[in-house]
Amino acid sequence: TDLALIRNFSIIAHIDHGKSTLADRLIQRTGGLSDREMSAQVLDNMDIEKERGITIKAQTVRLNYTAKDGQTYALNLMDTPGHVDFAYEVSRSLAACEGALLVVDAAQGVEAQTLANVYQSIEHDHEIVPVINKIDLPAAEPEKVRAEIEDIIGIDASEAVMASAKSGIGIDEVLEAIVTKIPPPKGERDKPLTAMLVDSWYDPYLGVVILVRVIDGVIRKGLQVKFMQGGTEHLIDRVGAFTPKRIDLPELGPGEIGFITAQIKEVEQAKVGDTVTTVKGGATQALPGYKEVQPVVFCGLFPVDAADFDKLRESIGRLRLNDASFSFEMESSAALGFGFRCGFLGLLHLEIIQERLSREYDLDLITTAPSVVYRLAMTDGTIKELHNPADMPDPVKIAEMEEPWIKATIYTPDEYLGSILKLCQDRRGIQIDLTYIGGRAQVTYELPLNEVVFDFYDRLKSISRGYASFDYEQIGLREGDLVMMNILVNNEPVDALSMIVHRSQAEARGRGLVERLKELIPRHMFKVPIQAAIGAKVIARETISAMRKDVTAKCYGGDISRKKKLLDKQKEGKKRMREYGNVSIPQEAFIAALRMG
Ligand code: GDP
Ligand code: MG
Repeated sequence: TDLALIRNFSIIAHIDHGKSTLADRLIQRTGGLSDREMSAQVLDNMDIEKERGITIKAQTVRLNYTAKDGQTYALNLMDTPGHVDFAYEVSRSLAACEGALLVVDAAQGVEAQTLANVYQSIEHDHEIVPVINKIDLPAAEPEKVRAEIEDIIGIDASEAVMASAKSGIGIDEVLEAIVTKIPPPKGERDKPLTAMLVDSWYDPYLGVVILVRVIDGVIRKGLQVKFMQGGTEHLIDRVGAFTPKRIDLPELGPGEIGFITAQIKEVEQAKVGDTVTTVKGGATQALPGYKEVQPVVFCGLFPVDAADFDKLRESIGRLRLNDASFSFEMESSAALGFGFRCGFLGLLHLEIIQERLSREYDLDLITTAPSVVYRLAMTDGTIKELHNPADMPDPVKIAEMEEPWIKATIYTPDEYLGSILKLCQDRRGIQIDLTYIGGRAQVTYELPLNEVVFDFYDRLKSISRGYASFDYEQIGLREGDLVMMNILVNNEPVDALSMIVHRSQAEARGRGLVERLKELIPRHMFKVPIQAAIGAKVIARETISAMRKDVTAKCYGGDISRKKKLLDKQKEGKKRMREYGNVSIPQEAFIAALRMG
């Protein structure tokens, strides 16, 4: 394809402003699918994504559009993941585009999250085309929103497209704006091949499918290529694009986005951001911006029913086929039996995997407290990486302990700023910057990741009624006064609830945990002490008083069948419990206890 006839773009929008609806309209209008094939919201293809309104795996579709100038253009619409855990993937997708549609709800106006995304797009030198959507709504104030885009974001919105993705208004204008405003890609056909690996996923029929953006040169079937970062070589056996139906193409030239396959069995071999070049006469310099993504949050996943272990192993293995950023290894816990220690890019990533395991694979799971990776300098001079509090060595053998820190940027409407500053402060945050943009505040904090993995995001959302947005990047390790806190139920340590905390937070955390456990653990025939302890020192304590009578005592002697029924019922309830010594802890207690109040 002639470079001048290609446009590569993504869509930026706050959740619910109409990104998916607009994408569907563009696909429909350009004839990528028949009406019958047009199921609602083609781009969001997983249930969880739909429910949460986020995109986990990027999808790219090629739309053939014959413009008013009579030329037929190939428009590559790239969908990007919508969450900070996937920031690196987003950055690579954006690097593959020259422009973006900025979709703003005509009744809601510019939202904080929109701002964060627009700035990222601007950083990639994108041409930004504003689209004011939902002009059909009675509450729509398109002129006010136009002014907001100019004042708050600072881009020219005088030619913003007025649209209603729902009613199909302004769709042609959006397509024309893409063609006339967004610049075509640059690239040279005669140079050695360099293509950026934008995304990869596992397809049961094709093996690993790789989405690429060709920068220079040509990629075609039969070429022997190498991945410059991964260091592997592969024979290309298929080249094509999604319209959104998969079509095969003879080649992908400079500026084009499409897919390749090469008999690759594992997504791990196709790392996002890698550079694809030819083995013979290939490029000597890899593309900039490559990063090896590493899991930053770890937790244990255990089946509630020990008999489900094999099923869990199989399910985790299958999820991993499609997600190289997720890691797992077998783990055994004194209390929970066999399970897996899993690593994730962040908390949302953890939740997604956990949710998919329970929903798609029908597994009841216990999740242990999430933990970050600590670096331990031992007194004997060795260095240890600690992913699991259970592996914490004897503190006297540790010379120094370091924990990962992040730089967090939070955008929020003014009125929630006070509570947000307090939250950050409570989590050992160090304020770096505070500025105002329009009626919104942008605050930058350095925070220990350890304080963020528990429930920071949930708390932030709840104190800002969903309005605050949160973005972060890792900024390295810092020394911290960290201690291992154990939870003892009836004097037995419950390893799944052990955690590493900063000494200054230990008491408050410990008290919170034992108080919640007191509510969550049912009464037994005897008194059950619950303690939080650092080493031998108890820092918080609660006691669950003993049950007065045997429940069966209610059924005065005679009625044996009623008594049996009651016992059966108790047994049923026990299935979802875990036994610690002779104390039963309900499954919910683990999860609930870890949510800090
Ligand atoms: P996304 O989260 O940005 O992908 O937003 P969606 O495309 O899922 O749209 C969110 C909601 O807004 C859905 O209920 C859509 O039907 C609705 N919606 C999208 N575009 C329009 C529009 O132009 N007018 C109206 N009235 N509703 C719209
Ligand atoms: Mg959507």
